[in-house]
Amino acid sequence: MGIKVSKFGGSSLADAAQFQKVKEILFADGDRRIVVPSAPGKRSKTDVKVTDLLYECNRLAGAGQDIEPAFSKIRERYQGIAAQLGLHVDLDAQLEEIAKNIKLGAGADYAASRGEYLNGILLADYLGWDFVDAKTGIFFDEEGRLDSEKTQERLGAILKQHAYAVVPGFYGCDTHGNVKTFSRGGSDITGAIVARAANADLYENWTDVSGCLMADPRIVRNPEPIRYVTYRELRELSYMGASVLHEDAIFPVRIAGIPTNIRNTNQPDEPGTIIGYEAEDYESEHMITGIAGHKDFAIIAVEKAMMNAELGFGRRVLQALEEEGVSFEHMPSGIDTMSVVVSEDSVEGKKERLIARIHELCSPDSVEIHSGLALIATVGRGMVRSKGTSAKLFNALMKAGINVRLIDQGSSELNIIVGVDNLDFENAVRAIYRAFVVKEPRW
Ligand code: ADP
Ligand code: ASP
Ligand code: MG
Repeated sequence: MGIKVSKFGGSSLADAAQFQKVKEILFADGDRRIVVPSAPGKRSKTDVKVTDLLYECNRLAGAGQDIEPAFSKIRERYQGIAAQLGLHVDLDAQLEEIAKNIKLGAGADYAASRGEYLNGILLADYLGWDFVDAKTGIFFDEEGRLDSEKTQERLGAILKQHAYAVVPGFYGCDTHGNVKTFSRGGSDITGAIVARAANADLYENWTDVSGCLMADPRIVRNPEPIRYVTYRELRELSYMGASVLHEDAIFPVRIAGIPTNIRNTNQPDEPGTIIGYEAEDYESEHMITGIAGHKDFAIIAVEKAMMNAELGFGRRVLQALEEEGVSFEHMPSGIDTMSVVVSEDSVEGKKERLIARIHELCSPDSVEIHSGLALIATVGRGMVRSKGTSAKLFNALMKAGINVRLIDQGSSELNIIVGVDNLDFENAVRAIYRAFVVKEPRW
């Protein structure tokens, strides 16, 4: 008998009806023996995720205000699900304990993690499976990074003791024994860690779309699903904005050689997307695999005549960034120019200091920071072999009247990144999609 680890996202577990779908999916395949739930997500476009309500409670507590207006909504969500499913588990004491701890200042990580914790307790009761608290098996190190070795050893040992288990997503334990969460969307990472620790045959990631799509469905109408994608391609896509899978959910399963299958809880018959190591057997119908991107980057443009001959120039520019704790995304450069692309967030409130420090360290002719840049990655393993990919891409952007402010093609030829004005972002994504995917344009 094999093992499949199935992670369900927030919308997949948003209410009692969704819980029923999840149970049906799990019980339809005997290999599905470990489940990783998220906290209840949005039931409609205007709804609020339980995780966001918990962060709000923590904010209110920190400001010395009453948490009850937000906490009562959380209580209602869980009690509503429990009542509709006819569960007997008593959540009241747990809810009151959590409210008390938040008021006492337990912190943002503790507060946010309780969304997954409580949903895990409900789901375990509903399925009749064992509840395994992620705090006992997932560990972070002193720097706040995942302690993979300790986690693998401890979680592996714990999971061996349970034939069927529910492990809540999103959090683990820090070196002081306190709860610590991953970044937002981090239940995907928990799922991948659990799959590795359980030595699973497959990591299933169940969400509200039928796999990873060739473009963000909020920008392109009905984009085609990607049937097969390599871990390297998906890492590029998710890092650049394909938010269907957390970019850090790739490493644990990739190391272990476990494939991931992204599926739709609301359309369980659809095959979704398979993410694997190699892709030789899977020819894509299109020249590219997918398009992803996001807005709000800035370019630090440095110019100096004869820059090319000055040893250590680039290092000194990057030193200024390092001193300010800013990491860079891309660095296209010319003979006398160097452009460093950073996220707008990361330089907020630091721009003047950065410019002054680059002047001090490098004596350039000019340093300017230009804001309002969007980056779009067109990704595909097929690009290595096919000629004319960039011609097609730039032609599409030209026809759409979009000015390209920056170009970067990685040496792996896995992607081409273009920078456009924030205002052109959506049109640029649609233009690229049309050029590579749509045979008969629908627009
Ligand atoms: P979950 O709560 O199940 O973890 P998320 O909201 O984190 O779900 O991720 C699913 C959402 O990701 C989709 O509803 C969609 O809006 C968004 N998304 C962005 N880019 C893509 C893409 N390329 N393919 C699929 N979904 C995408
Ligand atoms: N509930 C957490 C969040 O909203 C984690 C997750 O959904 O993956 O970010
Ligand atoms: Mg998610």
